[in-house]
Amino acid sequence: MKNIFKNFFRFVMELLFPSNLKCIFCGKDVPNPEFCCCNECLDKLKFNLDNNCVVCGDLLVGDEKVCENCKSYHKYFNRAVSPLFYDTLTRKVVLKFKDGDGRYLAPHIAKFMFNKLQEAEIDFDIIIPIPLSAKSLERRKFNQADLLAQELSRLSGKPVKNDVLIKVKETKHQKELGFYDRQKNLAGAFKINDKASILNKNILLVDDVMTTCATANECSKVLKKFANNIFVLTFARNTGNKLYKK
Ligand SMILES: [Zn+2]
Ligand SMILES: [Zn+2]
Repeated sequence: MKNIFKNFFRFVMELLFPSNLKCIFCGKDVPNPEFCCCNECLDKLKFNLDNNCVVCGDLLVGDEKVCENCKSYHKYFNRAVSPLFYDTLTRKVVLKFKDGDGRYLAPHIAKFMFNKLQEAEIDFDIIIPIPLSAKSLERRKFNQADLLAQELSRLSGKPVKNDVLIKVKETKHQKELGFYDRQKNLAGAFKINDKASILNKNILLVDDVMTTCATANECSKVLKKFANNIFVLTFARNTGNKLYKK
């Protein structure tokens, strides 16, 4: 199954990527100029294909289809998908992308995401990037999720609404926090700016990486008051398995 997907993925990549690229993961010249990912890295990439939760996409520990966290904690989104797992390869690309010099990576990262979107047959009306607070945006100069949303809009033909969902509260860095502390940290952080534009719409919520779903879930909670279905798409899925303990 994995090889079939990889071969199909190679085929799609050959069609999609422009020429004269270097591998986005290792920086080597790409032997086949149609690729943005070299064959060595393609073989090393961990595609998020099976053995993951049908709701949040996290890696499953047992044989069940839904993870423990989704069983015990309600998710306001219908489904979350990512083309890849978060590991040393994807982490390097994400860090480079978030650094100002890595903005050129947005279209290449978005193509991986678009590929997953098509594979998962997700139907949506509008794209909403997970927002940064005004202070964080000022510090970082750009919202990486918004760059990806713009690229996904070009690929899908669906509009981006980047002023509908806003982050009104500055929150602590979540890296050291478990799932429950993340939920507390994010409570009341997001607000809807323009209810009419999301009324009964199917929304694609976009970010670079997802770990516990706490951020995506809090955003979905406020969107769900007006929207219809909500899907979450991230480039890489980091497992939250260790972070769910109270
Ligand atoms: Zn490579
Ligand atoms: Zn789950």
